[in-house]
Amino acid sequence: MSDVPESPPRSWAEVDLSALRHNLAVAGELSNQQVMAVVKASAYGHGLEAVASALEQEEVAFFGVANVGEARRLSETGVRTPIYLLGGTFPAEREEVVAHNWLPCLNTMEEAHHFDELARNRGTVVEAHLTVDTGMGRGGFLPADAPAALEAIRTLPGIKVSGLGSHLPSADEDVEFTRSQFETFDSLIESLPGRDQLKHVHLSNSAGLLGYQSRTTTLVRPGLLLYGVSPLNEHSATLRTVMTLKSRVAVIRDLPPGHGISYGRTFVTTRSTRVATIGIGYGDGYPRTLSNHTPEVFICGHRAPLLGRVTMDQVMVDLTDHPGCSPGDEVELFGPNIPVEEVASKAGTIPWEVFTSITPRVQRVYSG
Ligand SMILES: *Cc1c(COP(=O)(O)O)cnc(C)c1O
Repeated sequence: MSDVPESPPRSWAEVDLSALRHNLAVAGELSNQQVMAVVKASAYGHGLEAVASALEQEEVAFFGVANVGEARRLSETGVRTPIYLLGGTFPAEREEVVAHNWLPCLNTMEEAHHFDELARNRGTVVEAHLTVDTGMGRGGFLPADAPAALEAIRTLPGIKVSGLGSHLPSADEDVEFTRSQFETFDSLIESLPGRDQLKHVHLSNSAGLLGYQSRTTTLVRPGLLLYGVSPLNEHSATLRTVMTLKSRVAVIRDLPPGHGISYGRTFVTTRSTRVATIGIGYGDGYPRTLSNHTPEVFICGHRAPLLGRVTMDQVMVDLTDHPGCSPGDEVELFGPNIPVEEVASKAGTIPWEVFTSITPRVQRVYSG
């Protein structure tokens, strides 16, 4: 029956690309540096292809991805902005990196020698950045070893080191440690021979660029703040919300006192209760760990509390105090009225994880 219209989505994520571009501009203005837009994990769940094409029209120096699978997807969209791999590569991935001119970061001499060999075999030169471990413990050369490593890698004909980066483990938690990390990093850069051959020097994620100053960096690597969330308490007001997670009211019923709601019957009504069933659950990425931490949703112009556990496909909401709502009406799970930080904190996690947990069942709908 081709004349039957397709039903509207039951759960969807509205993604405002003009808000994304606004936040990118904020990152550039606050740091006064070039920006690597971090688009790993499907652009923090916002959709890699749509986010990359929206940002490609702006001033972006690099796209930062986590691995070659993401680099491949990004290449296939035809973006021209250089693609940077934020983490180390497996040996079997490196040939593809070289063939596509993706920029790897170098974490070990073994990696450097392998890239050099692959590049020479193909008659090309790999452009790469050196990673220095100033405290993250995830990869790279220790600061004391970095000058010698850089010197050794510069003798390899298949590699051109055009940048150097490090990463911050605690920029949103530990001011004192992070300040000392900036000092370690800046002093290292200032002491390096041939420092001016490093076109790109970078250290800051979102929290780093919002809260700290470097004497040497030329590039920042924000992820979260592009998507409208500040990891620090300050600066939220200058950012615009990009994603709004929505669903609809499916069923509205009146239940008597003493009636259990959802698995485990952790909630039992104490009064006559009007209950709305909403078509979203942990199968969509709405965190099950919210259950019984009094999360609220925004429904028919009001905040209303969730009742009982989050199930795979549905949640129940107390509508007793908000008459005038009907099946089919929209519900906001997070967005401008319910900050994603609030959902993350009640779920016992962080906004990064809430965004990246939204599953493919949730349709992404773009505007702006
Ligand atoms: C993910 C990541 C970022 C972005 O971090 P945010 O806190 O989301 O801004 C920056 N740099 C590296 C190396 C990363 O892995």
